[in-house]
Amino acid sequence: MRLVVIGAVAAGLSGAYSAMKNIEDLEVIVLEKGTDVSYGACGMPYLIGGTIDEESKLIAKDAREIVADGVDLRLRHEAVGVDFSLKEVKVRDLDKGQDIVVPYDLLLIGTGANAVWIPGTKGVDGVFTLNTLEDSRNISSFIEERKVTKAVIVGGGYKGVEMLEALHDLGIKADMIEMEESILNTFDPDVSSITEKYLRDEGFAIHLGEKLDHLETDTYGGTGERVSKVVTDKGTYDAELVILTLGVRPATGFLEGTGIEMTKGAIVTDLEGRTNIPGVYAAGDCAMVFDFVAGIDRYLPLGTNSNKMGKLSGLSMAGKPVRFRGVQSSGYVKVLGMEQSQTGMTDTAAKRMGLDFGSVLVRTRDRSGYYPGSRNLYVKLTYLKKDGRLIGAQMAGETGTAIRIQGLVPAIYADLTVYDLEYMDFGYAPPFNSVWDSINVAASKAVRSLSGT
Ligand SMILES: Cc1cc2nc3c(=O)[nH]c(=O)nc-3n(C[C@H](O)[C@H](O)[C@H](O)COP(=O)(O)OP(=O)(O)OC[C@H]3O[C@@H](n4cnc5c(N)ncnc54)[C@H](O)[C@@H]3O)c2cc1C
Repeated sequence: MRLVVIGAVAAGLSGAYSAMKNIEDLEVIVLEKGTDVSYGACGMPYLIGGTIDEESKLIAKDAREIVADGVDLRLRHEAVGVDFSLKEVKVRDLDKGQDIVVPYDLLLIGTGANAVWIPGTKGVDGVFTLNTLEDSRNISSFIEERKVTKAVIVGGGYKGVEMLEALHDLGIKADMIEMEESILNTFDPDVSSITEKYLRDEGFAIHLGEKLDHLETDTYGGTGERVSKVVTDKGTYDAELVILTLGVRPATGFLEGTGIEMTKGAIVTDLEGRTNIPGVYAAGDCAMVFDFVAGIDRYLPLGTNSNKMGKLSGLSMAGKPVRFRGVQSSGYVKVLGMEQSQTGMTDTAAKRMGLDFGSVLVRTRDRSGYYPGSRNLYVKLTYLKKDGRLIGAQMAGETGTAIRIQGLVPAIYADLTVYDLEYMDFGYAPPFNSVWDSINVAASKAVRSLSGT
């Protein structure tokens, strides 16, 4: 039996190894159009900023190790089409310029996503996206060779703020431009505004509600035409380097018209990665995932989801039983000394779904007020009004606090209510929290709000 995998990073390789472990005598061919494999893209901002000192530290397994594990890894081989009726992938050998056909019994699509560019910006020297290891190398070389001192980041999502930190660590002054009215838009604005204020207090220029209009270039005294200014609908900003962090789109163009079910280019799968085509699986940034809190399929391009869906696909191919309900949109982000975390629905999402919900946002302390180093910890809970069931949680606070949301991830998973959390026995000691843990405090406020007191 032959499994063909397209894409050799998180989803593709998780799936390949999971299938190999669980299916005897499985031949595995992995097609990868690039040359970088099995790397932790999430670490790239820290590599650029110097927190991680060597690129090799981001590589989980290099190509040689993967081949030694028995995988037929074909680098610089791009899937350019699939004939599902013949069970064949049409593949372009990018070095030889030849097209070949690779038949499969099982197919896993793990092609990830492509970065979004603004029309007219691609190809301008000094303008980058950050999606692949190659992008990360290009940004680092550009910064070093051109001695960059001033940058603009367009897009205030988690990649954007992580790059703000990376550039800050390199001593590069950076402005951030975001077209919405707040940064970090997967969170509610009242939570993200805490980080936004922190960044402004640290001296960062954050321009909200501004849309990039065009770029200007300069020859910098004969060193070649490259970006010099970012012009938005409201202002003009000097920029020797521009990083666009505007989101990603599924890399599934080669599947158009093949009959595979997709929503806005993202492949629709079930909880085990199966697509609508028998024997064909998809996982990672090229696919949708089921969000069991919202009860809908969503496009959530995250490393956590890619690894899980890859592994589940392999198990499913092997016919192994799995217990997986779907994801609950959990995520963390850090920028310098501030952190935010979330799980489940935000108020914004609950409103969009027309739910009858309530929410509270409390400011507590991350340790006893009298204990040295006590800092603010903000907790937001979103719950259903009819029964107090917790449907979402968000936190913001200084270094080390975001991870506390893990106390609320299982609460949502297990359908707990704010009544359950009001007196939940979280334990207490002054260096860790207050006698009433932050979650107790937030839940108590929610209970009071529900009872109208
Ligand atoms: C800067 C950055 C920070 C991030 N931080 C976090 C984080 O903190 N937490 C988190 O959960 N997630 C984070 N992510 C997201 C996470 O890295 C991705 O969700 C994950 O890497 C997706 O894995 P994947 O295997 O689906 O796709 P990819 O990693 O994109 O891999 C897909 C592979 O398929 C190849 N390919 C594409 N098309 C073809 C084709 N037609 N033929 C052959 N090969 C093809 C590509 O070359 C690529 O190597 C971050 C991402 C970035 C870029």
